[in-house]
Amino acid sequence: MDAAGASAPASPPIRASEALRKKLAKIGLHSEADLLVHLPLRYEDETRITPVAGAPWGEPVLVEVVITSCEIQFRPRRQMVVRGFDDSGELVMRFFSFYPSQQAALSAGSKVRAFGEVRGGFFGAEMVHPRFHKVIGDEPLLTEMTPIYPSTAGLANSALQKLIARALEGGDLSETLDEELRHRLKLPGLARSLRFLHTPPTGTALETLHARNHPAWRRVKFDEVLAQQLCMRRAYLARREQGAPVLVAQDDLGARLVDQLPFGLTGAQLRAMAEIAGDLSQPYPMQRLLQGDVGAGKTIVAALAACQAISAGWQAAFMAPTEILAEQHYLKLRQWLEPLGVKVAWLTGSLKAAAKRAQLASAAAEAQLVVGTHALIQEGVDFARLGLAIVDEQHRFGVAQRLALRKKGANPHQLMMSATPIPRTLAMSYYADLDVTVLDELPPGRTPIKTRLVADTRRDEVVGFISKHVDEGRQAYWVCPLIEESEALQLQTAQDTYAQLAEDLPNLRIGLAHSRLKADEKQAVMAAFTAGEIDVLVATTVIEVGVDVPNASLMVIEHAERFGLSQLHQLRGRVGRGAHESSCVLIYAGPLGEIARQRLKIIFENTDGFEIARQDLHLRGPGEFVGSRQSGVPLLRYADLELDADLVEMAREVAEKMLVEHPEQAERHLKRWLGTREELLKS
Ligand code: ADP
Ligand code: MG
Repeated sequence: MDAAGASAPASPPIRASEALRKKLAKIGLHSEADLLVHLPLRYEDETRITPVAGAPWGEPVLVEVVITSCEIQFRPRRQMVVRGFDDSGELVMRFFSFYPSQQAALSAGSKVRAFGEVRGGFFGAEMVHPRFHKVIGDEPLLTEMTPIYPSTAGLANSALQKLIARALEGGDLSETLDEELRHRLKLPGLARSLRFLHTPPTGTALETLHARNHPAWRRVKFDEVLAQQLCMRRAYLARREQGAPVLVAQDDLGARLVDQLPFGLTGAQLRAMAEIAGDLSQPYPMQRLLQGDVGAGKTIVAALAACQAISAGWQAAFMAPTEILAEQHYLKLRQWLEPLGVKVAWLTGSLKAAAKRAQLASAAAEAQLVVGTHALIQEGVDFARLGLAIVDEQHRFGVAQRLALRKKGANPHQLMMSATPIPRTLAMSYYADLDVTVLDELPPGRTPIKTRLVADTRRDEVVGFISKHVDEGRQAYWVCPLIEESEALQLQTAQDTYAQLAEDLPNLRIGLAHSRLKADEKQAVMAAFTAGEIDVLVATTVIEVGVDVPNASLMVIEHAERFGLSQLHQLRGRVGRGAHESSCVLIYAGPLGEIARQRLKIIFENTDGFEIARQDLHLRGPGEFVGSRQSGVPLLRYADLELDADLVEMAREVAEKMLVEHPEQAERHLKRWLGTREELLKS
């Protein structure tokens, strides 16, 4: 079964002048088929005339007035003021820019039809910059609603309207969903839906059309989401066609690692391991995302996957987005694996030349596990036999980077990890081309984190709180505000805070970590903190991901209102990792904006990453959610992943079946909805 093999004829290019075609291409319209699914943003009703006096305010209407005067005024700013009336009353129209021809058309005695919103101005009913034309004789009204299409500079709505009307006449409106399926999903036919949306019959309530919950809109949205699912599913299947090394363990390395752990694995970890182990022993590359809330214990699962690759005679690579995190992984993995005889190499940008040469040589020869940052994917890095590529905090990497790591081997298996839990529907869209394993259980013995919100006027109390906390033998983080505009300023703030805290807490050992530190300095600070030689670590967001020091059980975040929700959740996740009661103090500076207030409320009330993510999605939409992952989501023009969640669920199921049972229909469906844009998804 290979749907990619079935090929539907391409839709003919749009018949139009070269100049017009260029403009159309700018908004993604290349073929006749593209025109058919270029749907209106909204509609204007010019099928009837509304009396000026009865016009609902704030809603665009068509009025017809006879002009009584047209003057240019210079105060308060230059404008053309036109007065006219109909049977019901007077209307003032204002134009702040205008041509002499318009001025002429609006001379006293002319009859004009103006389309715009009527507002109550100082002098009565007003329209600002209405669209208008002069009426000559008994001009009939339009008989249909006017669809207003998304457009670009220099491309008139009327031109689009004409082209689309023509496409509707002769275009391919063939159905891609079976009658039976449509019936089950309660969706109308495609041809009917498109005709309705492009040319709604007179009398259709504008509200229905604009609210987008009309069955015709549902059909369009479903088709769109289905195309996206088909596309990603197909990419997934295509990658399966490629061969990959079969990684079957030849010894008990994994079991020996488990034996020497100071803890037992959780049920979720065992399940994840089993799934991954199964994938690795297949002759096609694994494409799995391991998702688990902060602290769920993803690292050991990855280490066990690496063991399987290693004991099958292959290498594993482990890439992390920051130097601090990579280093921490390196230390941890070495501590786990070196006693078992595994050779671990280490690559980051900051290695000195000689050390780097040695590590590169190791990666190209005997190393069994190579840990590092982006340095792993640079040119000149060669792996002897890369069988498994592990990417931690995968949302921090771009597609190209993950691809580059894969290219370091001949189709290695891939394990991606993310602590950014994303809502289910979003996951189904973003990760439709991956298998997903969720670690839905935290290791036992974690104490819930107490979150407090404290105004910055009470900073002194927080300092006292730290002191008490350290007296009890614990450690603390103090995270300095994010200053997006300037890294230098952010650094300055961290240094100031460090100096201030050292002064306020003379008996405590304070450390400072920020991104400008040299690698060995950073390493020394982190090692000292891990060893308990530093009580309070002042840091910028460099500690945001992954850092794991169980004895640190207090997290203070300054200017918490400047952080995003997932960042706050990540930062808070640095504590609550040991047996001690942990707390997180969010210091905020008022006055708070509405969004900031909402965010703090959400983080205060919730500890579950998925719930936080769900509310975050609600708050700001899916845009930034999954970092730079290129996915099908940008292809969605009409559907909304949150509002249309039910459609996503349905589409996922239909897509799987359709590719198997009706590959030709699937192909036609994809061509129609994605056309040339399908290329965007090839990654
Ligand atoms: P994350 O999923 O955020 O990457 P880590 O892998 O860093 O989480 O694990 C967090 C901490 O929990 C580490 O100190 C790790 O050693 C510990 N840990 C992992 N699994 C277990 C377990 N089953 N029981 C107890 N502690 C565990
Ligand atoms: Mg981690």
